[in-house]
Amino acid sequence: MECQNQSMNIGILGLGLIGGCLGFDLRSQGHHILGVSRREATCEKAVALGSVDQASVDLSLLAAAEVVFICTPLALIVPQFEQLIAHLSVATVVTDVGSAKAHIVKASSPLWDNFIGGHPMAGKTDNGIEAAQRHLFVDKPYVLTPITTTPNSAITVVEEIVRSLGANIYYCQPEQHDRAVSWISHLPVIVSSSLIAACLNETDSDVLELAQKLASSGFRDTSRVGGGNPELGVMMARYNRQALLRSLQQYRHNLDELTNLIEQENWTVLESKLKSTQQARPGFVE
Ligand code: NAP
Repeated sequence: MECQNQSMNIGILGLGLIGGCLGFDLRSQGHHILGVSRREATCEKAVALGSVDQASVDLSLLAAAEVVFICTPLALIVPQFEQLIAHLSVATVVTDVGSAKAHIVKASSPLWDNFIGGHPMAGKTDNGIEAAQRHLFVDKPYVLTPITTTPNSAITVVEEIVRSLGANIYYCQPEQHDRAVSWISHLPVIVSSSLIAACLNETDSDVLELAQKLASSGFRDTSRVGGGNPELGVMMARYNRQALLRSLQQYRHNLDELTNLIEQENWTVLESKLKSTQQARPGFVE
């Protein structure tokens, strides 16, 4: 299957933030977008907004799709895939956008030869089709996690579509993906949430109110992911539990170390620790 510069029937299952964004960009390239979602109202909205050409609550709409992106909440990706299979022709390439990969790839690969796991590293605080926008994936990492049995043809099809979104593609093993995102995506959600919760423990209500009024860009940056979609946070923890617990243990160790230095008034070592994190940050974000 060749997809470069060629219009394809592309199916999107789950018309929320990520599914809706994919629809906008792929439709604008001339692909015919078939959308399936749980609620009729969402289907109607997706068509009205122009994210998809056709939409239905019935999975059979995806029978005509050459490629399907499964974009439902994490817990529903495998169950929905199981139901979708009856409607697909053998050549259909299926991929998903779930934020944790090992569980999904392990469960999905035996179901379908032409399956390749994926994860766009792009998002927003809001969810649902109303939050979908154009160009969300431009210049953002997009991870693909083929395994040894994934056909090259399936990899090529998904790779070309993802590249057409303007995303930067990375390949890795599903388990490597889960460990990497536990550091830079899942751990920050828990840390940021506990930051907000810790502030709320201020017992003087006047001080708490003042802190809320004084909070500015620093707090906005550090609290952003802790103030995001709770359902997504729970799913990350549930489906990447082992790697997240490992990261949290290390984080607790580092926090204890910094706490001890402050208790001991060891400003020299504290400064050298902060210097090393200052130097390390550009390795993660420019
Ligand atoms: P979302 O905005 O809540 O979208 C999910 C959509 O799936 C909902 O709008 C819902 O639409 C639909 N849905 C629910 N149950 C369904 C079912 N049984 N069958 C078909 N559709 C169903 O969530 P999202 O943020 O786009 O996340 C979707 C996936 O993307 C998740 O697996 C997540 O891990 C992954 N992801 C998210 C982000 C992010 O930052 N948000 C980033 C990368 C990857 P209805 O209105 O029809 O119920």
